[in-house]
Amino acid sequence: MKKDNAWNSYSEEQLTELEALAGRYRAFLNVGKTERECVTETVRIARENGYRSLEEVRASGETLKTGDKVYAVNMEKMVALFVIGEQPMEAGMRILGAHIDSPRLDVKQDPLYEDTEMAYLDTHYYGGIKKYQWVTIPLAIHGVVVKKDGTKVQVCVGEKDEDPVVFVSDLLVHLAGEQMEKKARLVIEGEQLDLLVGSRPYKEEKTAQSETEKDKEANAEQAAAKDAVKKNILAILKESYDIEEEDFLSAELEIVPAAKARDCGLDRSMVMAYGQDDRVCAYTSLEAILSVPAQERTCCCLLVDKEEIGSVGATGMQSRFFENTVAELMDAAGQYSELALRRALSRSRMLSSDVSAAYDPLYAGCFEKKNSAYFGKGLVFNKFTGSRGKSGSNDANAEYVAAIRAMLEKHQVAFQTAELGKVDIGGGGTIAYITALYGMEVIDSGVAVLNMHAPMEVTSKADIYEAFKGYRAFLQEA
Ligand code: MN
Ligand code: MN
Repeated sequence: MKKDNAWNSYSEEQLTELEALAGRYRAFLNVGKTERECVTETVRIARENGYRSLEEVRASGETLKTGDKVYAVNMEKMVALFVIGEQPMEAGMRILGAHIDSPRLDVKQDPLYEDTEMAYLDTHYYGGIKKYQWVTIPLAIHGVVVKKDGTKVQVCVGEKDEDPVVFVSDLLVHLAGEQMEKKARLVIEGEQLDLLVGSRPYKEEKTAQSETEKDKEANAEQAAAKDAVKKNILAILKESYDIEEEDFLSAELEIVPAAKARDCGLDRSMVMAYGQDDRVCAYTSLEAILSVPAQERTCCCLLVDKEEIGSVGATGMQSRFFENTVAELMDAAGQYSELALRRALSRSRMLSSDVSAAYDPLYAGCFEKKNSAYFGKGLVFNKFTGSRGKSGSNDANAEYVAAIRAMLEKHQVAFQTAELGKVDIGGGGTIAYITALYGMEVIDSGVAVLNMHAPMEVTSKADIYEAFKGYRAFLQEA
C-alpha cells in the first residue's frame, strides 16, 4: 500500500504552524528532562490555559460543568487533564495517554565514593539502554533531595552554559584491544556506569597571613588524607544545597544528557533531543487537549511515569490513580456511582501513544518494509505490539481501527501502520494493555523515532505535526 510523504502536502501556512509547534516542543524538552519536570511544566502550561486543580475544585465544593478544565497530579510524576464534555461521563471519555519517563542513569542511594583521588557517584540505569552509548558524553544531574525534615531541594546541574557537567569515562582506544573483542552488551557493564564528579582534594580555608609553615604541613597532610576528594564534593554539596551525605538516601537524582533539543538535518526536517520517547507523544497530546473546546464527550490527556520499567508502582499506569481520579471527577460533577464509573471507563476510547521504531535504511535487515514506520509518513498506529507471537500485546479491535481510519481521513491526518521490527527480532509494549483491562477501545499510536533509547533520539517534524493533528481530531471526533 502506498503512503504519501506528508511534507509534499503542506501549504505555507501549515509549514509555519509545523515550525512553531516544533519550537514549542523543543522548549518543552529542554525544561522537561525528568518525569517530575514534565509534570511541573505541564501544570504550568495547563494553568496558563485556564485549568484548575481538581483538589482546588473539591475543596471549594463547586460542581463541575460542561467546559470546565481540571487537572490532577499524582506524586509529582503523573498528571491527568480533563475538559468536561456535554454528555455525562458515563457515556465514555476520549483519552490521550502517553508516558513522560525516559531511559537514563539513576544515582544509587549510597552513591558517593573515592578511588585513587577521584570522586564518583554510583548509578543504576533505568529502562532499556545500550550502556556503551552513555559514556564520554556530557551529562547533567536533575532531581530532588528530600531531607529528614521534609525540605525538598531541587537539583539541576549541567544545563546552563556556565554549569559544570559530569560524565562516565571509557577506556582509550590505544589500550582497548581486549575490550573491543567483547560483545556490545559487555563492552560497558552496569557497574561501570559511575559518574566522575571530582578530582580535587578538600582544603581548609585559611588567610594567607596566618598560614604558618606548620599550617602548610597540616594542609598537605589533609590533602593526602583518605577521601579528601570525596570530602571536597561533600563540602560543595553542603555549600550549594545544604545537604549531607546521608541525604542521598532520600534523593531521586536522574542523570541525563546535558544537551539541548536541536533542529536536525541540513534541511531542518528533524528534531534531535534526549527523551523524545515518549515526550514527543506526551507534548503533542498536551497541545491537542489545549486546542479543543468542550466536546460532546469528556476529553482527557493522561501522562504517566514508569512505562520504561513496566508501568509499575504508584505512578505507573498499573496504579489506581487514573480510576480514582475519574471517580473524584465524576463526583465533583455530581455524576458518581460505582456503576457510572465502570461505564465511563468501559465506554471510553483511547489512543495509547508511544514512539515507534522508525525504518532505518542502514539497518534494513531488522525491518519488514511493508509494515514499518517511516519518517514523514505521519502518525503511526500499531494494531498490536508485544513480541514472539504478539505476547504481552494489546490488540485493537478491527472495528475500532476502521473508525480511527475514517476519522483520520476526514481530518486529513497523514497516518501509517507498523509493527516493531521483523517478526521474532525483538519487541516491546506500552500502556495500552492496561487501560484495555477496563474494556475500553484502545489502540497504540505514536511517532516514529530513530536511535530510540539512545542519549539523543531523532524524530521528523512532519510526524510531530501529524501527531498533534491526529490527537486533536481524535478528541473532536472519536
Ligand atoms: Mn515509550
Ligand atoms: Mn521506551
